[in-house]
Amino acid sequence: MTPVRVLAVASEVYPLVKTGGLADVAGALPVALKTHGVEMRTLLPGYPDVMRLLSGTEELRRWPDYFGGPGRLLAGSHAGLDLFVLDVPHLYARPGNPYVTADGVDWPDNGVRFAALSRVAADIGHALVPAFVPDVVHAHDWQAGLAPAYLHYDDRPRPGTVMTIHNMAYQGKFAPALLGSIGLPWHAFNVDALEYFGGISFLKAGLRFADRITTVSPTYAKEIQSDEGGMGLGGLLRQRSDVLSGILNGVDTEVWNPQTDPHIAYRFDAEELTFRAANKAVLQQQFNLDSSDETPLLGVISRLSWQKGLDLLLEAIPTILREGMQLALLGSGDRDLQDRYQAAARANPGRIGVVIGYDEILAHLIQAGSDALIVPSRFEPCGLTQLCALRYGAVPIVSRVGGLEDTIVDIGEADTSGHDATGFKFAPVTADALAGTLRKANVAFHDKLTWRRLQRSGLATDVSWRNRAGDYAALYRDLMARRS
Ligand code: ADP
Repeated sequence: MTPVRVLAVASEVYPLVKTGGLADVAGALPVALKTHGVEMRTLLPGYPDVMRLLSGTEELRRWPDYFGGPGRLLAGSHAGLDLFVLDVPHLYARPGNPYVTADGVDWPDNGVRFAALSRVAADIGHALVPAFVPDVVHAHDWQAGLAPAYLHYDDRPRPGTVMTIHNMAYQGKFAPALLGSIGLPWHAFNVDALEYFGGISFLKAGLRFADRITTVSPTYAKEIQSDEGGMGLGGLLRQRSDVLSGILNGVDTEVWNPQTDPHIAYRFDAEELTFRAANKAVLQQQFNLDSSDETPLLGVISRLSWQKGLDLLLEAIPTILREGMQLALLGSGDRDLQDRYQAAARANPGRIGVVIGYDEILAHLIQAGSDALIVPSRFEPCGLTQLCALRYGAVPIVSRVGGLEDTIVDIGEADTSGHDATGFKFAPVTADALAGTLRKANVAFHDKLTWRRLQRSGLATDVSWRNRAGDYAALYRDLMARRS
């Protein structure tokens, strides 16, 4: 096996900094790739938490003026990850969420902040660090989208490039004037390059100039080639469909392991599913729900945003109540949704429990204690919570989109697809269709044998990175072979 060196570029990496699934992927993939002969190093910005957690730090480069202030490139590690950290205090030494201010608005200099990250990625691609000259630069999402563009507008020999889309809705759009301050040529402001509806888009740059494009599920790879799913970039993706593919995400099966999970009250495995009842009791207590094992408990762990379809679940609350079910929701995001869920909890004590916030420990408890996990997304590139649910015996109830379509086998489809059913899928993505599926799930829940079968086939599903990492390794090798 030819060894391959890959520089991954990501704006968040679990367990150093995380706002969503991108961090999980960026944190798990390098570890899973080791057994496939891929040496991956990950470049990320030096946010305060990253600087605090980084160990074995070595200074590789120092600049008196990097995009408007002093900066350094560091090497170091954390949690088994080999990292490059771009330490530029005037760009990254800000507490809290990596993209937005305490008031929840985008930092006004986000364009410069993530151009700086992409610029150094391209420089590493051009052998800035002699000890690690990558064969491939792998850019994740718009924050790294300029890396393929910087490499393109440079005559030196360059590594292969891969651009991965984790969510088409975030495109990194800025005013064209930014071009002058980030060292890209003015002629990049052109419809065949970075120009995008009168501005520039970092994601478009990556999609235009990367050798390969991937996204995180085969169905999402198709959806984003449509006008609706492509959110303005569908035409470009159709043009580039020969280099576009979908590779499903996995989950970190060490972190998400019900047999060893330190965050849950009672550990269990496929043979001992009865222990889930004890976790359910703790979950009911923590969410102020009536304690009853016979009441089906629906769980949600999610960002509260339009994408996630949780306004549809609000509309289905009367069905949940009529069917005698309970709901435990953990999430944060849109103010309006937060308020409406809190109001629903106040109006239905013992039946609807809501925790607003981000809480890893509660997320584990919901997976271990709820009977079903609901993911009613309007679009979902891959989705991770339904994969964790499979591993924890919570039966997924999901909309039929993107990675949800690819990872869950509907109860009505088991016979035809050859795989055993693992959950429930609904379409169209409406409150009515969701409510109908909740009623169907309630019937199945009270048929103990059927429910056990769903849980067991979920637990038997491989949601690890093992095979998926192999797909990335094959992609890197194929890219290298074609380029040489
Ligand atoms: P997205 O990246 O669109 O937010 P994913 O399903 O791909 O959605 O990934 C979400 C990740 O974030 C999962 O690991 C999930 O457990 C976690 N998560 C989301 N919301 C919360 C929350 N409020 N508290 C704890 N973990 C959360």
